[in-house]
Amino acid sequence: MIVLKSPAEIEKMRVAGHTVASVLDAVGEAVRPGVSTWELEEIADRMSQEAGGRPAFKNYRVGKHVFPCCLCISVNDEVVHGIPSKERILQEGDIISVDYGIQIDGYFGDSARTFAVGEVSNEAQKLLDVTQESLARGIAMMDSNHRLQDIGSAIESYVLEHNFTVVRDFVGHGIGRELHEDPQIPNFGKPGRGIRLRPGMVFAIEPMVNVGTHEVKILDDGWTVVTCDRSLSAHFEHTIAITENGPDILTLSS
Ligand code: MG
Ligand code: MG
Repeated sequence: MIVLKSPAEIEKMRVAGHTVASVLDAVGEAVRPGVSTWELEEIADRMSQEAGGRPAFKNYRVGKHVFPCCLCISVNDEVVHGIPSKERILQEGDIISVDYGIQIDGYFGDSARTFAVGEVSNEAQKLLDVTQESLARGIAMMDSNHRLQDIGSAIESYVLEHNFTVVRDFVGHGIGRELHEDPQIPNFGKPGRGIRLRPGMVFAIEPMVNVGTHEVKILDDGWTVVTCDRSLSAHFEHTIAITENGPDILTLSS
C-alpha cells in the first residue's frame, strides 16, 4: 500500500531531508586521501545526535545481521551497504559512496552521494557524472503525467547510452514514517508501465551504476555488496515528493 503524504507531512520530511543533506555536505568536505571511513562515521554520528534524530541505518536488521553504523560507506567496487572501519583508509583515486538517513519527528530522509578522493581516473569521473545525471533523469519523470516505470526507464536508458550498467538487485522505495515503504522502484523499466504517479507520493530514488557487469554479490560480513567483476560502482540518491507542480527534492543542500 502506498501511503500518500499531506503537505504538512512533506514539510516534516523536508526537515529530515535537510539534516541528511547537511551530514552529506560535512562528510564530503572531510573526504580526502589518508582519512579512514570511521572518521566519516564519527562526523555523521555527532551530527545525528545534534539534530535530535534517530540514524536510520544504525541497528537496522536484516535476518540475523544488524548494521552497526550511521553511514553506509562503499569504496570503489563496493556498491552499497559497506561498513565504516578504522582500517579502511581512503587513497588518492578512490571513489566513495556514502549513504545516510535519519528519522526526525517521526519522518525519514534518505540520500546518497559518491565522492572522488583526490584526483580520479577519467572513467571514474564519468561514472560519477553519469550516475548523478541518471538520478536527475529519473526525478524529472516524477509528476502526475507519468507512471512508475517511467522513472526506472529514464535512469536505465541514460546509463546504457553511456555503456555502464544498472544494478537490478537493489531498488528505490517509498519513504515516510517508515524508511522503506511501498512501492519498490527499480532503476529499470518500460515506459508507460506501472501505477500513475500522484501528488503526495514520496520516493527515495537511488540508481546504483557499475562500469562492468550489473551483477552483484554480498560479502561474508552479511552487508557489503560488491560488483561480481570487481569493477567500479557509484550510487546517488534523493528523497523526492511529488507535488501538483512536479518533483520537490527534499534532500538538497541549502
Ligand atoms: Mg539511502
Ligand atoms: Mg534508500
